[in-house]
Amino acid sequence: MGISRILIANRGEIALRIHRAAHEMGIETVAVHSTADADAMHVRLADHAVCIGPPAAKDSYLNVAAIISAAEITHADAIHPGYGFLSENAKFAEIVEAHGITWIGPKPEHIRTMGDKIEAKRTAGALGLPLVPGSDGAVSDIAEAKAIAEAAGYPVIIKAASGGGGRGMKVCNGPDELETLIQQAGSEAKAAFGDATVYIEKYLGNPRHIEFQVFGDGNGNAIHLGERDCSLQRRHQKVLEEAPSPVISPEERERMGGIVSKAMADMGYRGAGTIEFLWENGEFYFIEMNTRLQVEHPVTEAITGVDLVREQIRIADGKPLSVKQEDIEFNGHSIECRINAEDPWNFAPSPGLVSAYHPAGGMNVRVDSGLYAGYRIPPYYDSMIAKLIVKGRTREGCIMRLKRALEEMVISGVKTSIPLHQALMSEPDFIHGDYTIKWLEEWLAGRQS
Ligand code: ADP
Repeated sequence: MGISRILIANRGEIALRIHRAAHEMGIETVAVHSTADADAMHVRLADHAVCIGPPAAKDSYLNVAAIISAAEITHADAIHPGYGFLSENAKFAEIVEAHGITWIGPKPEHIRTMGDKIEAKRTAGALGLPLVPGSDGAVSDIAEAKAIAEAAGYPVIIKAASGGGGRGMKVCNGPDELETLIQQAGSEAKAAFGDATVYIEKYLGNPRHIEFQVFGDGNGNAIHLGERDCSLQRRHQKVLEEAPSPVISPEERERMGGIVSKAMADMGYRGAGTIEFLWENGEFYFIEMNTRLQVEHPVTEAITGVDLVREQIRIADGKPLSVKQEDIEFNGHSIECRINAEDPWNFAPSPGLVSAYHPAGGMNVRVDSGLYAGYRIPPYYDSMIAKLIVKGRTREGCIMRLKRALEEMVISGVKTSIPLHQALMSEPDFIHGDYTIKWLEEWLAGRQS
């Protein structure tokens, strides 16, 4: 028994990433694709491929009926959702399981709990994670909201319970504007997410974004694989990630890692997860948990040597984690650059024909990408086309290697964010690890003026 054929319900580099782990385990793969992706690398490499609909994601990569049918006709015995698309859809996970197909992901009830930000915060608090001070649940009454904001201290941030992608958030500087902003946030949230529920948090002025990678076996055993620093963001989108964080000491890693892995063990969490915190003045504040694999997972793989997708597949297959906490060592430093098909300075998307492609190579350089010369990047999906992940013995060595690797990378025919990453590598603040979630946007604004 055991998993022998995995349907990969995704596209692009992450579909390839999952295919690679599966083949290294002797497991066959089934690619699903839209008509726009018929020539994509994930389709070419997979053992079987099924077209599941037209280009629009809602008709293909989010088309539950088509994906389940594809699994049935190809006799896939498991589904890996990757990230994005259906990966955090509890209903989809339940449908997969109801069809007798193994879901390579967390228990549906945990996906559901963490998908509601108020529930997630309540759960995290009950499990002993430090929270951003604020309302204990939804706010509706303005007098109550004022009292909460007063207690937390201005500025505060009003957030949508069903929010995501940085939308539905309003920063409020004082009691005069509170009522108006709560109303605005509520109606925007209603329009965007169909749910007007909002809550209040203290607004941290200049934090870092630091997240912990966790893994549970679903039976009360859990480990952590250290943190990633994802503070380099533009419009709440991560641009570059590194592990370890330049500001976290080994003692602090062990302390927080212990707290998060105990929380996951107590919860009976199954599979890979990421617990996201804001970090300011040495304090961690939980903001949310992602119940899936993250784009930036390779930096953790680089410094721990643990193949996270392989672990996901093993756990879904009912096997124990292949490593214990005491086996995990953190070695060296790793940085990932997200390479998007877009103008590096005004961020306008740049889909189209890739006329030449040469990935960087050499020691401790990894490129995860579905690109090839002659590939046409479709305009319908996320603009990320490649991830360049580099490891060095020290952070300094890692940056030198990244500079060298960025020089080697050739992606012709479309604009890419490579020049942005090259410019970052020479910035003293970046070189010193001295940046917060505000830094990149300020730096970009400074370049423009
Ligand atoms: P989403 O699910 O929309 O991404 P998050 O809760 O993860 O929302 O927050 C996204 C980003 O918004 C954070 O990475 C941070 O930049 C900012 N943010 C969220 N909460 C706060 C807060 N309390 N104080 C300051 N910034 C915040």
